[in-house]
Amino acid sequence: MFPKPVYLRCALLLCGVSILSACDRKASEPLVIEGKTMGTFYRVSLAGVDKNRENALRAQIEAQLADDDHQLSTYKDDSVLSRFNQYQGNVPQPVSAGMADAVVTSIRIGRLTGGAMDITVGPLVNLWGFGPDKQPVKTPTPEQIAAARQRIGLQHLKVIQQSDGQYLQKDLPGMYVDLSTVGEGYATDHLARLIEGNGISNYLVSVGGAVVSRGHNAQGKPWQVAIQKPTDKETAVQAIVDLQGMGISTSGSYRNYYELDGKRLSHIIDPATGAPITHKLVSATVIAPTALEADGWDTGLMVLGTHKALALAEKQHLAVYLITKEGDTFKTYMSPQFKAYLKDPE
Ligand code: ADP
Ligand code: MG
Repeated sequence: MFPKPVYLRCALLLCGVSILSACDRKASEPLVIEGKTMGTFYRVSLAGVDKNRENALRAQIEAQLADDDHQLSTYKDDSVLSRFNQYQGNVPQPVSAGMADAVVTSIRIGRLTGGAMDITVGPLVNLWGFGPDKQPVKTPTPEQIAAARQRIGLQHLKVIQQSDGQYLQKDLPGMYVDLSTVGEGYATDHLARLIEGNGISNYLVSVGGAVVSRGHNAQGKPWQVAIQKPTDKETAVQAIVDLQGMGISTSGSYRNYYELDGKRLSHIIDPATGAPITHKLVSATVIAPTALEADGWDTGLMVLGTHKALALAEKQHLAVYLITKEGDTFKTYMSPQFKAYLKDPE
């Protein structure tokens, strides 16, 4: 079930999901293009692609990642999303087709998770110090939480699709849309499309904890993706999957956290309580047709907790893998759909 140490030494581990790359760096080596983006790392592995295409591909990849960041970032004051958040009126604002698609998908997942995944949760994310604002020095008060919650609600956000373009509209001036939770999936899907547009059909791309793979690796075998054990250690592998052309994303509460008033706070906020989640579910992985969808679901499932997440996975036929931690013991749960992707390491 678990990989041999040689794999572990060669694995590139990224925020919960990792790519297992072969150690053999001879003829069967993929062309790897990697770097930093959106506060995390991206990696593009291409099988059967000549090294002399590297520079041209890298330029396209980096230009596209920069554009995605310019669309979705809440860390940049002049991004399209930040400008929408700064705008206090209710006139529909033009956005790109990609951004509209990300919002439509997020709203759909938001509804299906009963509001557990909510891209309007930004005021609470910022209040708890997980957005561009500084971390608080004291636990936010119930009054502060109540005030932030006044500015939240998916029912106040609309996507308008017309023949002349797509628009976002809000009827709550103080609303703050936070697409960070789907940003990695969004960028990963874009990279996959860019690579295919270059006539390449055997690739594995990842941005942070989101991955899409298609075809085979440089050894002619299916690409393998490893789900990490939810520890601070970078190399512990919990399970390996073959994506078969799908997208995967993991949300974990074990990496992105800080301590406040003696409590460890996760960056995932439960909109129902207005506070970071506290339950024992520490990692949720979803496989879906796109990395964007997987990235939206994983956050919603993290908020819902093990029991409700598994019930929703069953209802929506989702491929889901959950890890809980009680004391020092990890337990895993998976939906029947996920089992179809599980692989023994080679
Ligand atoms: P990561 O890959 O860093 O684990 P996630 O995809 O889980 O990221 O998204 C976490 C981010 O989503 C948070 O940093 C915050 O900006 C935002 N967020 C937190 N809680 C929610 C929520 N309930 N619904 C939507 N977005 C959220
Ligand atoms: Mg997510």
